[in-house]
Amino acid sequence: MTRPTRGAPGGRRAAEKIALISLGCAKNLVDSEVMLGTLKKSGFVIVTRAEDADVVIVNTCGFIGPARMEAEETLGTVLRLKEKDPRKKIVAAGCYVERDRPGLQKKFPGVDAWTGVRSFDRIAAIVRGQPVSGPDRTFLYSDASPRLVSTPGTWAYVKVSEGCSHSCGFCAIPLIKGPYVSRSLASIVREVRTLAGLGVKEIDLISHDTTWFGRDRGLRDGLVKLLERLVRVEGVAWVRFLYGYPGEITEPLLEIMADPKICRYFDIPFQHSDPGLIKAMKRGLDGVRALRLLDRIRAKLPGAAVRTSLIVGFPGEGRREFAGLRNFVRTARFDHLGVFTYSPERGTAAFGRTDTVEAAEKERRRGEIMDIQANLSLERNRGYLGRQVEVIVECRETGDSSLWVGRGRFQAPEVDGVIRFDLPAGMTAHPSPIVRVEITAAGAYDLEGRLVP
Ligand code: SF4
Repeated sequence: MTRPTRGAPGGRRAAEKIALISLGCAKNLVDSEVMLGTLKKSGFVIVTRAEDADVVIVNTCGFIGPARMEAEETLGTVLRLKEKDPRKKIVAAGCYVERDRPGLQKKFPGVDAWTGVRSFDRIAAIVRGQPVSGPDRTFLYSDASPRLVSTPGTWAYVKVSEGCSHSCGFCAIPLIKGPYVSRSLASIVREVRTLAGLGVKEIDLISHDTTWFGRDRGLRDGLVKLLERLVRVEGVAWVRFLYGYPGEITEPLLEIMADPKICRYFDIPFQHSDPGLIKAMKRGLDGVRALRLLDRIRAKLPGAAVRTSLIVGFPGEGRREFAGLRNFVRTARFDHLGVFTYSPERGTAAFGRTDTVEAAEKERRRGEIMDIQANLSLERNRGYLGRQVEVIVECRETGDSSLWVGRGRFQAPEVDGVIRFDLPAGMTAHPSPIVRVEITAAGAYDLEGRLVP
C-alpha cells in the first residue's frame, strides 16, 4: 500500500484531507468522532465532502442485513470516486469489517486499508499504511482521547462502554464487539465537564445496554451512581440515557430519574410481547411484564416518555403471536417506536431456526405496527397542543431561515420527532440554548410552535 503524497506550492507538502462517512448508530458516530479527533491531532485536515478528500473513511455498520447492504453501497460509491482519481485512498472501518473482513476484502479489492472496531486510536497509522502494533483489544475511548464532536453544539453523545454481555438470540453485537467493558466513572464525569465547558447542555449517555454500566467493574447501581455525579456538573441542563435493558429498570434508577436534570425518557427495546418468542430471543420481559413495568414507570414519573423497538418476523412468529404484538402496542401506548424486520445473523442462537416468515410478510407486519403507532403518536402529540414545553435548540430549519428546530425532553436526538418553532416579530435569534415554546400544531412525528419570549 502506498501513501498518496501531494506536492504543495513552494515545495511544502500539503496536509492530507480526510472525509469520513459514518453509518449506523450513535455508538458508531462517537467512534467516528474519536477517529476524526485523532486524525486532526495527527495533522490531517478534515473535509466534509468525499469528493474533496485525499482519504475517505467509511465507518460501517454490520448489525443486520440492511445495514450491511448500505455499507456495501457506500463503499461502491466511494470506490467509484477513486476510479476518477486513483490517488484517492479508501479506508473501510467499523462493525462490518470486524464481522467479515475476508468477505469484504474479496468484494472490494480496491479498498486500501481496513480496520475493525479495536484500533480507532491507531487510525492515523492505518491511514498512512504504517504497521500497527499492539494487542487486538477492545478500544475504549476516554476523556483524554481527541474527539471532534459533530452533533449540534447544544448536545452530545457520551458512550459509557463498549460491547455487550447479553446473548440475545438474534443479535450479533457480542460477536462483533465482545463482552461489556465500562469506562471509568471518573473519565465520563471529566468528559462531561469538558463538554459542558464547550456549551453542551444535553448529555445523551449511550452504549449497547446503558443500564449494565459499571457491572464489569464491580460497581452496583453503576448507572444510578453515574447519574448522581452528572446532575452535579455545572452547565449541564439535561441528562438522558438511551438503550436500557427491560429487566434492569430498578427502583433506585426510577428514584434518581426524578431529578429535574434527568429527562423522564426511557428507551427500552422490548423486542416482542409473546412469551414463547421472548424466551427464544433470550430477552427479559414478555408483554405482560413489560406492561407492568410501564405502569410502574408512569406511576412513579408522571409524564415519562417511553420509546421501544420491536422485531417482527422472528422465526415462529405466527398470526397469533403477531396479533398479540399488535395488542401489546395498542395497550402500551408508547411515545416512540421503531420496528425492525428479523434478519438471520450467522453465529447467533436464532440462526439455526428456520426463517418462517417471508420477507414480504415481515415488511407488511412492520408497516402494520408502524401504522398503529403513527395514530397513537399523533394522539400523544395532540396532547401537547396549547402547552408550553422546554426545547433545546439544534439548528435553523434547512431552507427556511425563519424557523428553528429543537427537541423537547420527551424527544431523543435523531430517532424521535422534532419541534419547529418561529420567533416573535422583531426577534432575530433565540435568546438561549434552551427556550420555551408554545405548541401550535401536531403531526404524528413532529410538533410546531412559537417561542415564548
Ligand atoms: S442487549 Fe441484546 S440486542 Fe442489545 S446489543 Fe446486547 S445482545 Fe444485542
